[in-house]
Amino acid sequence: MKTFRHGIHPGDYKDLTRHIAIERMPFTDELVIPLSQHLGAPSRLLVKEGDKVYRGQIIGEPAGFVSIGQHAPVTGTVKAIEMRHHPSGKLVESVIISRDPYSPQTFYNEHAMEWESLTPGELISLIQHGGFVGLGGAAFPTHVKLSVPEGKKAKFLIINGVECEPYLTSDHRVMLEQFDDVFYGIRILEKVLGCERFYIGIENNKDDAIALLNKRIPADMNGEVVALQTKYPQGAEKMLIEAVLKREVPSGKLPIDVEVVVQNVGTIAGIGMMFRFGQPLIERVVTITGPGIEKPSNLLIPIGTKLADVLDYCGGLKENTRQVLFGGPMMGAPQVYMDVPIMKGTSGILCLTDEEVTIREEYPCIRCLRCVDACPVYLNPSRLGALAKTRDYEGMLGYHVMDCVECGSCSYVCPSNIPLVQRFRVAKALLREKQAKQRKAS
Ligand code: SF4
Ligand code: SF4
Repeated sequence: MKTFRHGIHPGDYKDLTRHIAIERMPFTDELVIPLSQHLGAPSRLLVKEGDKVYRGQIIGEPAGFVSIGQHAPVTGTVKAIEMRHHPSGKLVESVIISRDPYSPQTFYNEHAMEWESLTPGELISLIQHGGFVGLGGAAFPTHVKLSVPEGKKAKFLIINGVECEPYLTSDHRVMLEQFDDVFYGIRILEKVLGCERFYIGIENNKDDAIALLNKRIPADMNGEVVALQTKYPQGAEKMLIEAVLKREVPSGKLPIDVEVVVQNVGTIAGIGMMFRFGQPLIERVVTITGPGIEKPSNLLIPIGTKLADVLDYCGGLKENTRQVLFGGPMMGAPQVYMDVPIMKGTSGILCLTDEEVTIREEYPCIRCLRCVDACPVYLNPSRLGALAKTRDYEGMLGYHVMDCVECGSCSYVCPSNIPLVQRFRVAKALLREKQAKQRKAS
């Protein structure tokens, strides 16, 4: 079975939710829509306090090429525009919407969109204004990846249905329950990219999804489902391309440099839904899971619903819950404030108890090189870790720290409990900041 080289095999812990069908979460009274839910410039505000808004109405427009539209997820009134806690830990300008309790919450302007006659540029603009980002967690604006630079060609489209993070099952359920939207979305993207063939990469711990999508591929479409060996971090773009096509994306290059565009399966389903029904990205499927939550679930949640409301809906946290993360255990971000909103990039909410969250003492590196064997991009985490400890960030550049995909495989295997990936994240952030300052100065 196909896969990439190196990587690790953590337990998948998906049994808690893999068989639970997607359920729509009821609308809550107050929703918080941050104008920055994506990489790039925050959206430009289009509403003011006191405005009445309808479900699906645009409330923020793209403020540049690397920016997207934002929409009201419920019908209601703009209660305030103010700084609110964001899952990143920062305060971010947000639109606070009070739900109209008497509205049936029917979707604003529901209609199928005529797309066959549109140009790729027009389709890309609709996707940008529809507010689409990668739903796998990175929240990179989708239209940017679809805008193929002059002189390059997207020969292949790879649909990322890997979901290699332990515990998470939202993409799995999307593939089982929204496959019509997935294939519709692929048709749109094929038209945008003019690609020759598509591949849907799925790990073999999701046999039912592999079988179902294989059976349902429309006869007029040129693509296939590729079953992959279950291994982490196969969902990272570069690893997925290597696993499916045996093509290697060189250091500092992008998938398009090897003629590939990768899109998350949830993003594609969302795009399919927009062109079928006119609905922009105002809700998403989220897995609420882990030993610390009373009722593990896969919920369809309006973007902007507060974390505390979601946890309440799932029966609340257990007494010994120690940590709540947005995302999975490998790359997820711990949350401090329970009033943060569900974002476009929130694929899961993981609730861990005292048992899973242990603070382990750090020991010196014993040069076992397990981290080297695990690293999927062939770095030397042991050497990088030593440089990070002495804050020799410039030295880390020479060891290609910027190629680190922050997967955490090295930290996972390290017998000395060295927080390698945490140190690499800090180093990369500081180096990026320094490079930005230098660019500005020059
Ligand atoms: S160095 Fe980076 S890419 Fe390599 S295993 Fe560690 S976190 Fe993953
Ligand atoms: S796995 Fe840990 S102890 Fe082993 S070489 Fe890497 S950093 Fe050192």
